[in-house]
Amino acid sequence: SPLIGVFALQGDVREHLSALRAAGAVAVPVRRPSELAEVDGLVVPGGESTTMSRLSRVFDLLDPIRERIAGGLPVYGSCAGMIMLASTVLDGRPDQESFGGITMVVRRNAFGRQVDSFETDLAFAEVEGAPVHAVFIRAPWVESTGPDVEILARVSGGPADGRIVAVRQGNLLATSFHPELTGDLRVHELFVRMVRETATVPTNGGQTIEEA
Ligand code: GLN
Repeated sequence: SPLIGVFALQGDVREHLSALRAAGAVAVPVRRPSELAEVDGLVVPGGESTTMSRLSRVFDLLDPIRERIAGGLPVYGSCAGMIMLASTVLDGRPDQESFGGITMVVRRNAFGRQVDSFETDLAFAEVEGAPVHAVFIRAPWVESTGPDVEILARVSGGPADGRIVAVRQGNLLATSFHPELTGDLRVHELFVRMVRETATVPTNGGQTIEEA
């Protein structure tokens, strides 16, 4: 089974560990660079992206995660994790930093005060069968995407009709919502497949890649 880490300095780590295990992965929390170096894939959970930004700097994970993303590590970010994978963040704190990797503009807390939290069903490309029930909690949306970004899901109906809420760019996957909270494993299964497919390609053994 692939070894998948969950960024564990902040956020709903336990829910992602359970969902990954149920989806067939070996899942471990990642709090330090030596743990990051071991994993075949990484999940960045929901939580608070400003705190994740600050703590990842303090605990020396910001640059190592950027380097592993540049080296092709599969990473899945949900909600705050989506913000952390965005190349550009709107309505962030002035000093907020992301890992980047997905060429997209993401707006924090985008759905606004009236709909701080809501649930809806989404058609999700790459996920077979029934629509995905999506839980949004002070969620971001994607305002624009680069040419290499595949749009996997949009909100249908309501005030946020048409907003992009799931994307993929190569080995990077991001959702505005929290599949780890619904018991539907299909998004985690998609990510585990992405990790398996990547792990079959010869790599440098998971060592971090020095920046040129
Ligand atoms: N509003 C949070 C942020 O900006 C994200 C909320 C979540 O992850 N549920 O980081």
